[in-house]
Amino acid sequence: MSTEVLAASATDVQQASASAPAQSATAEKVNLLGMSRPQMEKFFEDLGEKKFRAGQVMKWIHQFFVTDFAEMTNISGKLREKLEKICEIKAPEVVHKNYSKDGTRKWVFRVGDGEGSLVETVLIPAEDKTGSRKTLCISSQVGCALDCSFCSTGKQGFQRDLTQAEIIGQLWMANYSYMEDVPVIERERSVTNVVMMGMGEPLLNYDAVLNAMRIMLDDFAYGMSKRRVTLSTSGVVPKIDQLAQDIDVALAISLHATNNELRDELVPINKKYPLEQLIAACQRYIGKDGNESARKHVTIEYVMLDGVNDHPEHAQQMIKLLKNLPSKINLIPFNPFPHAPYGRSSRNRIISFQKTLSDAGFVCTIRQTRGDDIDAACGQLVGQVADRTRRAEQWKKKVAAQNEIIRSQG
Ligand code: SF4
Repeated sequence: MSTEVLAASATDVQQASASAPAQSATAEKVNLLGMSRPQMEKFFEDLGEKKFRAGQVMKWIHQFFVTDFAEMTNISGKLREKLEKICEIKAPEVVHKNYSKDGTRKWVFRVGDGEGSLVETVLIPAEDKTGSRKTLCISSQVGCALDCSFCSTGKQGFQRDLTQAEIIGQLWMANYSYMEDVPVIERERSVTNVVMMGMGEPLLNYDAVLNAMRIMLDDFAYGMSKRRVTLSTSGVVPKIDQLAQDIDVALAISLHATNNELRDELVPINKKYPLEQLIAACQRYIGKDGNESARKHVTIEYVMLDGVNDHPEHAQQMIKLLKNLPSKINLIPFNPFPHAPYGRSSRNRIISFQKTLSDAGFVCTIRQTRGDDIDAACGQLVGQVADRTRRAEQWKKKVAAQNEIIRSQG
């Protein structure tokens, strides 16, 4: 799920493909980066090795950010040689990165050969009463098929699902970016929270996202708290029920409208799974174990669109809609992108909307926006990088054609 606003102020933009550490292995090798523990245990057993090797190798990959088997010093030389021959640890290629002065980091990854095979990942640091947080917003698909009318990613159409390695590779790279210059044995994990809220609808790439989240929670990998891993969906109802069976993580819903007529327009999947079904699925997700799991409440994401969904009556509709659902509401000031058909609600309007909800007893926050001046909306940075790539290609072709004419004219 992509909302917008996961943004940084513009500063240090660099072309970064040279810094990606793990690009050289051949395509036939098995990429261990994306394997969950059961998958890796099976892999080692199939090799005739003990399955505890899986935990050892996962620690090297996900806790020490090692991509060279030679550095895995608690593994025998013979096994390391074997792994070197048939495996690789390959993160997606970084084609662009932007580290802001405010601590926000953004990456664009290339995940295929096409000029549009790009996804973006954003890391936002924050301080709160629980201490320092670094929250990473991860993409699950290249583009998105759901075509929400306010979403920059939706305008790019759907290309393909990301693989497990491409999903977990975003978390790997974000952590690695802090540890690049640190000796292997002193490396540690920096990212504290993950939201599956980047490009794409994560529940439509279910198996890969599920296994990637299992790696996030695994003590042999990132060991993240289940309350710090959140999946955000536009509302694929049957998959919400499946998720409840398969894993215990926090759930966020991209609501954006409080009646079906408007939501059909803003979030078209609502035509298939209308609000009544979606809210009922959220209630089932929380279930009776709510207090013991990551499922104490559902986070409601609501992008504020000027004159569209920000009227007092919409706040009243939300109060009714959510009255039986333990929820926290996050109001998101819209970040307009080129040709966006909407504008951002005024500050006064957003505050008044928040007050109505708070007065009704809801915990309601306004998301802080950063970097309106650049690539603010999720999917926009990818659009810009793709545009630049396309323009560079067109320029190269133009120069080649001119050279050809000069050559032919002798
Ligand atoms: S179009 Fe896709 S990525 Fe964008 S908000 Fe909708 S579900 Fe999320």
